[in-house]
Amino acid sequence: MNSPITSKPRILVIDDDATIHQAFQSILTPKRLDSASLDASMAALFDEPGAAQNSETTFELDLAQQGQIGFEMVKASVAANKPYDMAFVDMRMPPGWDGLETIEHLWTADPDLEVVICTAFSDFSWDEIIKRLGHTHRLLLLRKPFDKAEVWQLASAQARKRQAETAARNHGLELQAANKRLEEEIAARSRVEDKLKHDALHDGLTDLPNRLLLTERIERCIERSKRFPDYKYAVLFLDLDDFKLINDTMGHTIGDHLLMEVANRINKSLRSLDTPARLDDQTPARLGGDEFVVLLDGIKTPDDAYQVADRIHKAIGQKMVIAGHEIVVTTSMGVALSREDYQVPDDILRDADAALYNSKANGKGRVGVFDEKIHQQVMNRLRLSSDLRKAIELGQLRLLYQPIVSLESNKLESFEALVRWEHPEMGCISPVLFIPLAEETGTIHDLGKWVLREACQQLRIWHDQYPDMGHVTMSVNVSSKQLVLRDFIPCVIETLATTGLQGLDLNIEVTESVLIDNAEAACHSLEALGALGIHIHLDDFGTGYSSLSYLHQLPFDAIKIDRSFVKDMALDGRNANIVQAIQVMASNRHMSVIAEGIERVDQLVQLQTLDCNSGQGYYLSRPVDAKTAQAMLAKESQPAEAQPAAA
Ligand code: C2E
Ligand code: MG
Ligand code: MG
Repeated sequence: MNSPITSKPRILVIDDDATIHQAFQSILTPKRLDSASLDASMAALFDEPGAAQNSETTFELDLAQQGQIGFEMVKASVAANKPYDMAFVDMRMPPGWDGLETIEHLWTADPDLEVVICTAFSDFSWDEIIKRLGHTHRLLLLRKPFDKAEVWQLASAQARKRQAETAARNHGLELQAANKRLEEEIAARSRVEDKLKHDALHDGLTDLPNRLLLTERIERCIERSKRFPDYKYAVLFLDLDDFKLINDTMGHTIGDHLLMEVANRINKSLRSLDTPARLDDQTPARLGGDEFVVLLDGIKTPDDAYQVADRIHKAIGQKMVIAGHEIVVTTSMGVALSREDYQVPDDILRDADAALYNSKANGKGRVGVFDEKIHQQVMNRLRLSSDLRKAIELGQLRLLYQPIVSLESNKLESFEALVRWEHPEMGCISPVLFIPLAEETGTIHDLGKWVLREACQQLRIWHDQYPDMGHVTMSVNVSSKQLVLRDFIPCVIETLATTGLQGLDLNIEVTESVLIDNAEAACHSLEALGALGIHIHLDDFGTGYSSLSYLHQLPFDAIKIDRSFVKDMALDGRNANIVQAIQVMASNRHMSVIAEGIERVDQLVQLQTLDCNSGQGYYLSRPVDAKTAQAMLAKESQPAEAQPAAA
């Protein structure tokens, strides 16, 4: 089977004899002569008449009379990327190079050139030729006088050999290139995969391991501690004190840079530990926001963990310069050491978080260690939060109502609904304890809905019972977590519809924390409430956020001055000034002012002098149950006897 020859074979004949040139021409590039005339001209040169040639194979034939000329032609053919497939080289070509020297030159220009030496018996012996040119399969010998079939066959076979070799080499090169491309593709794909894997396990901002990777590593530690009782690990949980304030006042870009710097300092502190031999491994991680965790894998003693905590604590506390701002942040930290009863990563994370929470409660910028006392608190909280989930279904929640009274007319204006939890074993639990728990665990959503419905249903009943009671409204406390829920507004609309109340019958009390948690979403909800005619009251004013700028942006109808200002007002001129300033500012913005926590008559009188619109407090009435509140309404609805609600 013939291997494919892709182009006409290119042959070079180097011979000083012009008749030889003609002979090669007539064999390799025969003119379209009839076979008789061809035979005649062949007979003149060769010792036998022309044998039939393969008229289908023709060659591209070039001729050179001297070795030097042939060498130049070979060089040029290589440069033009059209190399000769083979060359016939005469042995004796005076006065120039002889055949051997010519071939030596040809192979410097084209080492793959197939060569046939045309030689008479009197020329060099084969041994001499081999000695000069070396053993090579590219060299063949054609003895004179030529046999034209031999010439034809040599030209055809050698050219085909070179072409087949070239094709094979090109094919090999193509394969190599394809292979290289494939390797590059595989490498690129594996780089993408590595990146995806990395991104899935690392925090985008700081590039620290994320919760997923941290959890995997803690799981490993838990497994190891089960197999090796002496093995110990620890978790440090830290967050930045007042990070939200920095973020809100200086902007998120600076906040982000601050977090990156904190990550950097944690990393550096771990790298520069002078007791690295005491730790097998460490994983610094960011859980989100300003919460960081460091897993210390394989500590020898609890002291190792405390030392690392101390070092990180100090490193973060050093002054930072971010975008030209000098910032000093402190961290609070909780440390939890491995325990036998840890089964899942959340166990130790929860305890380290509890230690952090506890250390914060004792003041910011501290390191707290999880201990038995905190363990008990955690267990109580866990139990309480699980009980709270069932409290609604079991009917353990109830509402008390505290009157809000006009300080101008002494008339009852509103009731504030205040939730209580009657725990079967622990008795009545204050919302101060369980509302934050409900917010943390998400129970606040159902709890909030229950409070809203219960309060509205109660007001509906009172409206029906006392149609003449004037416009007494219901104030309901709404947590910021509730406010930003998608189904909050639909729930309010539905509650108003089912109870037949108007938006104007309802006040929603929110605290300044709505502005910290999710200001944009909160703002949308507040506007939607306003559109329903519901009044928005800003609760506990003055206790939280330090900026007053939000008062312009949000649609508040009233400000409730926190009781801490009212408390010492009569004794402390400063507080009275503050209350007065709030009153002036509010009336400029067409907001009314409600004073909370009025416990004494002198406070009431002073607030009246300061033109405070409404008030609420034990002096006027404690929060009361529905029955007592109803009695107040009954009294209120007798016009002649209109009195302030009795303490
Ligand atoms: P708040 O909204 O500021 O409610 C007023 C709190 O002050 C009530 O405490 C009330 O009993 C108390 N208080 C009223 N007058 C006086 C007084 O003269 N002196 C003193 N010392 N305290 C007075 P309570 O009922 O313990 O509620 C505490 C907080 O729990 C509420 O503060 C409110 O933020 C939250 N809360 C209560 N019920 C709910 C609710 O249904 N949902 C939500 N999200 N939070 C609620
Ligand atoms: Mg309130
Ligand atoms: Mg309040």
